[in-house]
Amino acid sequence: MYACARCAKLYKLKSSLNRHLRYECGHEPKFHCTVCPYRAKLREHLKSHYAAKHVVTTIVNTDPDTDYDHVVLLTGSAYE
Ligand SMILES: [Zn+2]
Ligand SMILES: [Zn+2]
Repeated sequence: MYACARCAKLYKLKSSLNRHLRYECGHEPKFHCTVCPYRAKLREHLKSHYAAKHVVTTIVNTDPDTDYDHVVLLTGSAYE
């Protein structure tokens, strides 16, 4: 096991500890949910938050005047 020297969290893998030190420990969450006040320190956490708490709908954009090919609609609330 690898322990973080700052917060004493334990990790089985050294790479997990390194990720914790680089992106989590002492950092403010920087990935914000666009629907609710949830914030995540890692992009994967935000992704699983969307999957668990919100309905994610991808719609193909057929409007030729815009330059993006799809839009993603997020609905629902994390507090439901
Ligand atoms: Zn830590
Ligand atoms: Zn959310």
